[in-house]
Amino acid sequence: MESGKIIDFQSLTENVGRFDLRNKVFLIPQMHRIGVHLLAAAFRGFGINARVMDTCKGLDLGKEYTSGKECYPCQITTGDILYFLEKERERLGEGFNSENYVFFMPESGGPCRFGMYNKYQRIILDSFSDLRGVKIGSLTSRDGYSLEGIIEKRRARDLRKAGYFSILLSDILDRLLWKIRPYEKRTGMADEFIERAMQIMEDSLEKYGAKKDFDKIFDKLEEIINEGKKIIDPEVPSKPLIGIVGEIYVRTHVQANQDLIRLLEKYGAEVINASVAEWINYTAYDRFREAKAGFRFGLKQLRPGPMKYYLKRIVGFGGDLFYQEFRQNQAYKRVRSLIGLAKDHKLACLDNILKEKDLFCFDVGTEACLSIAGIVEYAREGYNGVVNVYPFTCMPSTITTAIAKPLMNKLRIPYLDAPYDSSFQPGREAAVRTFMYQAYQHFERNRRKKRV
Ligand code: SF4
Repeated sequence: MESGKIIDFQSLTENVGRFDLRNKVFLIPQMHRIGVHLLAAAFRGFGINARVMDTCKGLDLGKEYTSGKECYPCQITTGDILYFLEKERERLGEGFNSENYVFFMPESGGPCRFGMYNKYQRIILDSFSDLRGVKIGSLTSRDGYSLEGIIEKRRARDLRKAGYFSILLSDILDRLLWKIRPYEKRTGMADEFIERAMQIMEDSLEKYGAKKDFDKIFDKLEEIINEGKKIIDPEVPSKPLIGIVGEIYVRTHVQANQDLIRLLEKYGAEVINASVAEWINYTAYDRFREAKAGFRFGLKQLRPGPMKYYLKRIVGFGGDLFYQEFRQNQAYKRVRSLIGLAKDHKLACLDNILKEKDLFCFDVGTEACLSIAGIVEYAREGYNGVVNVYPFTCMPSTITTAIAKPLMNKLRIPYLDAPYDSSFQPGREAAVRTFMYQAYQHFERNRRKKRV
């Protein structure tokens, strides 16, 4: 790829933000494989031409256009968009028009670098004369990932609900996979099955998501779960339970974490990864907390303007949170009546854990609050080990490490830090193997205690 000069920095505000997606190709980078396919299907149900891009095929391009100091997810997604556009240019030749595409790259308001990926990627795209027309569609955690402005106003809330529902479904399919794969009757059965299940859920979401006919989708999901249960071999004894926390992109992106869950399973684990819905709920919960604090402050000072402003936000974010948790409870209740999938963590409960243990604080923000509290929750639920998965140098995950390591040591629960970049660490498998040996000892110790 040949690049020219950057035009101007105005582009960072003009060409990054919320754009009308009608008549555009909406490009979604892969993070959580099942999740992005279901999310794209939900968008297609609303008439948006959403496409999931291949991932990691353009990693060399990602590395070429970054300095090495950026976070690993930034390198991967930069490579994904450059690779996609390069192939699209080859495919369409003269007919290629960059104005037709919107690349999806959400952000959070800090304090770490996630707010800068899309700005940096804008600079890269602007350095190619024929890619300047590609818009970067950015949703932000500052407004709880509101979708207003990308579709007709009257449909934006429904799209958000269908989008959230797609994330819930993908979390459940993942949990189903991790529940059945370690006990499958024949190697490969669970993976083949989940691939089919994902396609069934994609079709259902595309068909029923926009109508909010979630019951029809639930019915299909129940059929899938009943079929999935048949893959479990009842003769295989139960295995040590390992919980994963960490940075959302790398812990859910199978190529980025070099398929860590499969590696843990190879050494005898049953694994649960923290969910994607947890992060979406967290953004609504955090905005809700901020709004409550703002309202209290306004009340103290008897200032009606800020009080009115924050009250509106309390209602808005409180409503989002209530709706999300209601849907989540409903979904887990239905599936858990069929199979013992792990429940998801409640945000208020995670917040209370941090307060109770005085370990960290939601006021500081970032995923560290979720990871640290999530680790304590895993410990309380009797997990046999915890792995913290993150991009090399990730700020919130480094904080998690500093707090979790001594804590796990005290609780005598095996703990492993698993940082990733694009290199392969020769000692990784040995570290996982040793960790699993310790987890197995913990598992046996607990089993003996229960028998006594
Ligand atoms: S969470 Fe970690 S990987 Fe993600 S932007 Fe922040 S520092 Fe980078």
